[in-house]
Amino acid sequence: MRVSRRGFIGVGSLAVLGVRISSAQQRELRIFVDSAPFLEADEAAGAEERVDWRGSDVRAMNACTQSYAATELRRHTRLLTGKELSIAAPGNGDPTGIYVLSLDDASIPSAAKAVIAEEKLESRLTVSGSFALVPHGGSLYIVGKDRAGALYGAYHFLEMQGIRWYEPGEENTYIPEKTELKMPASVVIETPMMFSRGFIGPGAVTRDFHVWMARNRLNLWENEHSDQPWLKKLCLLLIGGGHDAYPRYINPQAEYPYAYPLFPASSGKPKDPYKVVAASYLGDANHDGKLSYWEAHPEWYGMENGVRRPFRNVEDLNPCTSNDDMLAEVFKGVIQDLATGRLLYVDQYNFWGLDSHKWCECPVCTAQGSPTDRMLIVIDKLRRSLVEAQQSGELKRDVKVVFAMYYETIKPPTRPLPADFDYENCMGTMFPISRCYGHFIDDPNCTEYNQILWQELTAWSKAFSKGQLLIGEYYNISRCTSLPAMDTRTMVHDIPAYYSLGARNMHYMHVSYPHNGPKRWRDFLFARLLWNTNADADSLFQEYLHNFYGKDAAAPMGELYGHLETAVSPVTSWRGFSPTLTGLLLRDKDPESIEHLKIKETHSAQNDGVDLEESVAHMAQCRTIMNGLLHRSTAEPLAGRLREDDMHVRYAENTAGFYYRVTQAAQAKRQGDLEAARNYWRQAKVYADNLKQETVVVHTSSFDAMAKDGLAATRLELYFQELGAELQAG
Ligand SMILES: [Zn+2]
Ligand SMILES: [Zn+2]
Repeated sequence: MRVSRRGFIGVGSLAVLGVRISSAQQRELRIFVDSAPFLEADEAAGAEERVDWRGSDVRAMNACTQSYAATELRRHTRLLTGKELSIAAPGNGDPTGIYVLSLDDASIPSAAKAVIAEEKLESRLTVSGSFALVPHGGSLYIVGKDRAGALYGAYHFLEMQGIRWYEPGEENTYIPEKTELKMPASVVIETPMMFSRGFIGPGAVTRDFHVWMARNRLNLWENEHSDQPWLKKLCLLLIGGGHDAYPRYINPQAEYPYAYPLFPASSGKPKDPYKVVAASYLGDANHDGKLSYWEAHPEWYGMENGVRRPFRNVEDLNPCTSNDDMLAEVFKGVIQDLATGRLLYVDQYNFWGLDSHKWCECPVCTAQGSPTDRMLIVIDKLRRSLVEAQQSGELKRDVKVVFAMYYETIKPPTRPLPADFDYENCMGTMFPISRCYGHFIDDPNCTEYNQILWQELTAWSKAFSKGQLLIGEYYNISRCTSLPAMDTRTMVHDIPAYYSLGARNMHYMHVSYPHNGPKRWRDFLFARLLWNTNADADSLFQEYLHNFYGKDAAAPMGELYGHLETAVSPVTSWRGFSPTLTGLLLRDKDPESIEHLKIKETHSAQNDGVDLEESVAHMAQCRTIMNGLLHRSTAEPLAGRLREDDMHVRYAENTAGFYYRVTQAAQAKRQGDLEAARNYWRQAKVYADNLKQETVVVHTSSFDAMAKDGLAATRLELYFQELGAELQAG
């Protein structure tokens, strides 16, 4: 519950190392931050549009982010104590105060320098975002490895005061009832265990969401094409790229941009840097007066059944990746986009090739090994090109290269990587799509879903043991359509399991915003576990329940969350990506042929999932608890929170109820009992009608993870109508 402390005067006592400082010192307590080259901190904190975020102007970037951190400290300490601390530039004499700085600052006050040396922070803060809180001589030094570390240090200090940001929006900040600032009694050092932490598939969020991410030390976001200075100020790393590199940089139909020596009409163009292969050169084959990439260099494109051909779209044959000229042209385009184009702010570049799973069959490519072997050769070369571009000054920042381990590259490499392969800056993304959330990712008893994925993950991690993995989870996969699938039980187990495999980066798709409902707890926990994979989820949960719902509703809501998580845990079997109930019904197959999902409660040694009847029963428990709470007279903001959670409970109970009855109808029809089938269908209709009204939650994600309404989200709307018509006719 948010408690306003406005009107309360006085900072209370400031205890440093157990010693209270005098009231005269209290009055003088200030926040110190170096805002140069800007005039003062408030200006610097809002100057993101005037900062060059491409990487070389560290002084201005630090001033902007760290001044913003100082204003966040000022804002929240005022909410906490009622007293406003002033922000000043650190001058001479090292006055007592809270210092916000980072190791790569252009100038560091002398006392802070001494603290950094004494605590050996240069060697203890190793990872971007790591920080130290050092109480010393009546002051507190918040020292970041970099500006991200300084910002996170400020937020950590506020969290030590009990402040929490459970969901976006200033009105949702939890401020405990207390009036004293508590200083750490000894040095605190924090280092993130996962280096990049966040989301892809962002959807339409407002700036509140980005602020919420930074406050919870999340730092990975999909490249957006607007508002980047704002995202950069908040230390969000942007991930961009994908399947589009080849179509963008060597589009076969696009005009060849160089003066090809055998094509006189192109003589005015820049000198051609690439080899002429007269034997394959086609000339102006389509007689349009221009030379295309394909006409100039058929040897750059993929061979299939002995013949080279240009790719037609992103889902077609990959080009000839053993051709270094082709790669050079592609990398040139990538570097230009990273340096000055649409990837200007990208920190992690996805280079995924085409999305067809077809690779060139020429003898040179084939001799390089499997698609995975070949992909890693390309990745290695791309990374070397980026390093060269950085050395030449063309690129002003370090960009990591990200490859995908999926479909044809799901198998680990069969050949050794170059001895100097850049494991730190080339990372592979593993997407455990179609995983089961009723079992842990490494559960040996989940052979229907997770074991297959876990074996692939394990094989890759062994073959790539020196490298970093990026895990792309699916806590709100498109077909989930923002159902309140909590996934926290698996998350608590799986994130440490991913970490032990070598995962140092993780994101999930898709963000659900606004009206995240109970999923806010999932997202909050996700952030905590990515920072520290061993975070104590149980105590965080108890704290959340009390802080967010108040002491009277905490226990019943805790129970509700338990039932909800169990009830929606079979979401993959309901409507994920094979095997699924919806897939079986649509193909008129036995809907009970998935081992995980039966109509009635059944148990088996392997693949024992939560059955439809069980989900319905758990949702009924949720409904009882929720109704009990809703019938009490409750004050805002708690009442509003319950209403929002109620909407999610309703969506889930109608979804479970619908699947249960429609599956029974289908099964009865298969067994020839049309009377029973009609009965079940009529029961299902009630849930279908309810789902038709559910139009808010299903619109809280990115376009590909939304549905018209709750019934469309079941993926069975048309099926259900047709089934009704058939049963009527029968
Ligand atoms: Zn080839
Ligand atoms: Zn399972």
